[in-house]
Amino acid sequence: MNNDVWTLGRVMKWTTGFFERKGSASARLDAELLIAHALNMSRMQLYTEHHKPLSGDELSATRALVARRGDGEPVAYIIGRKAFWTIELTVDKRVLIPRPETEHLVEHGLERMRGLANPKVLDLCCGSGCIALAVAATRRDAQVLATDLSDDALALAQTNRDELGLNNVTIQKSDAFTAIDGTFDVILSNPPYISHPQLETLMPSVKHYEPMMALDGGTDGLTFYRLISTKARQNLNEGGMILVEIGFDQGHSVSELFKAEGYRDIRIYKDYAGHDRVIEAKCPQ
Ligand code: GLN
Repeated sequence: MNNDVWTLGRVMKWTTGFFERKGSASARLDAELLIAHALNMSRMQLYTEHHKPLSGDELSATRALVARRGDGEPVAYIIGRKAFWTIELTVDKRVLIPRPETEHLVEHGLERMRGLANPKVLDLCCGSGCIALAVAATRRDAQVLATDLSDDALALAQTNRDELGLNNVTIQKSDAFTAIDGTFDVILSNPPYISHPQLETLMPSVKHYEPMMALDGGTDGLTFYRLISTKARQNLNEGGMILVEIGFDQGHSVSELFKAEGYRDIRIYKDYAGHDRVIEAKCPQ
């Protein structure tokens, strides 16, 4: 093989090695997503056309994206897309990148809506809108309200709603529960929950790129759970359920908050890594 020729296969191999050396846990996937995006190809084509030599323009387009990732920028921001549940979302630095862990919240939330016709659902702190839109895509009969305090996040959630054509979702500005009228069968929330000491220890790709407002959960990380456990009741139907995502070490403290407010049937669900990830609680009468 002529080593001066950069074939697609060679670029893939080099880029994967480069990301590995940079410490990425998903080097191969990062390389595939970025190169496919730079060359406007599908990931499958990267393999079926791996002998194809890249032109100078194709190489420089690829290099530019690879360099950004090498500097620590998350892949989802570079390509502007992120797959979540059964949908794909537009994302940029205005919102937190939807995480696979949050799919557990969607899954358990949907479980709680089973058997309920036209469920009324609230997604508090919606960010990109991933939770609200995933629920609305799965349950087309649901009426979903998605709220956030950030105008930037609301604008992007609206874009995602329109791109997905999910007109069973309404996007509205609200500082926690203050602007929310009416009651819901299920309230879902993945609020900011990183404590101040933990903020310091976040990976640079999170700390330097993702919105602090979506991460900062106050001194001990529990600010939003205190607020939710004391205020959610006024917006819950009788027997309504609240489900929140939590940090791996918050299962006990967040359960105690809901217990203290009289919530019943409190359950903690784990993620695939075996960490506490979702808390579910039933509204007191
Ligand atoms: N609900 C959004 C998500 O899960 C945003 C969460 C947040 O901003 N803390 O990605």
